[in-house]
Amino acid sequence: MQEPVRLSAELFQVRGRAQELLHQKASAATQASFGRKVFLRGVVEVSNYCRENCAYCGMRRANEGLHRFRAKVDQIADLILHHRPNSITDINIQTGEDPVAVREVVLPLIKILRRETNLGVSVCLGSLNPKLYQELQEAGATTYIIKFELADAPMYERMESPGTLKERIEHIRLLAQTGWNVSSGFIAGLPGQTIPMLAANLELARQLPLAGCSVSPFIPGEATPLSAEKTGDIDLTLNCMALLRLMRPDWVIPAVSALNLAEPAKGYRRGLRTGANLVTINMTPSEIRQDYVLYKRERFIMTEERILSAIAAEGLSPANQSLAAFYAERETRSNLGHAQPAEVTAV
Ligand code: SF4
Repeated sequence: MQEPVRLSAELFQVRGRAQELLHQKASAATQASFGRKVFLRGVVEVSNYCRENCAYCGMRRANEGLHRFRAKVDQIADLILHHRPNSITDINIQTGEDPVAVREVVLPLIKILRRETNLGVSVCLGSLNPKLYQELQEAGATTYIIKFELADAPMYERMESPGTLKERIEHIRLLAQTGWNVSSGFIAGLPGQTIPMLAANLELARQLPLAGCSVSPFIPGEATPLSAEKTGDIDLTLNCMALLRLMRPDWVIPAVSALNLAEPAKGYRRGLRTGANLVTINMTPSEIRQDYVLYKRERFIMTEERILSAIAAEGLSPANQSLAAFYAERETRSNLGHAQPAEVTAV
């Protein structure tokens, strides 16, 4: 049984020496579970069509000025099969919520990867229907990334996040029940988000059947209703990451590239220092990547060189095992039962 994490408003807002200690504790918890190894995956963003309208995202359907694309299967397959960075063990295939791209691009691509490589395959494709989830699984994907984004239902609705919060949670539970490793995530620093709302994000994450979870700082996206708002506070974001790690030392927690938008040049490495154990190299071809604008056109692109130098600078090294193999092995071991989350008490 892990030590209880007692959430208080102060812990979210801690700064200075006390913050350093919190982050060191989170980092130590990661190392106790995973050593100094971080999982290294590549991401390909294969469609920026999206039927949803999240207020915090530049790819929302109301952004009619955005040039929309669906990548060609052959181009992406060639890229992954013949030009992928040596260091990656897994591929994450990502789109806006675009079932057409799932059928025309993602499914054929997964089948090629399964036939030609031993890369682990994750997907981040939004809320789909059970039949498509099953087809993706049968094709060979094993991890589904589906963020709940925020745990406050009225705010979820105001932010026009996908469907309702209740429905999003049902998708997460269905995916986990049907054998997916599910990774979720939430946003820190949204306009109007209070500390109790952030604590509710941690509490919801704790209750869900997850294998991992991310914390992303709010970035005011181009051509969104929130474009004039302030960027989410990096310290608040990192404190949430630290608390998440202390709550679940066994989870895979990524360092997201937006950390470097919230604190240029430093945020990403600070994420690694706060207990993150998954990094992602962006492999999307540059000619389509510029239209994959979750936030802004000036993206901070995590290349292999940047990733490897960031993890080396933090005294970490790439894991030899793929994330997919790690989850599969853990599943076998923990038919002994998933690790119990540490207790979290309300703010
Ligand atoms: S966050 Fe995802 S679902 Fe929401 S608008 Fe952007 S791409 Fe679509």
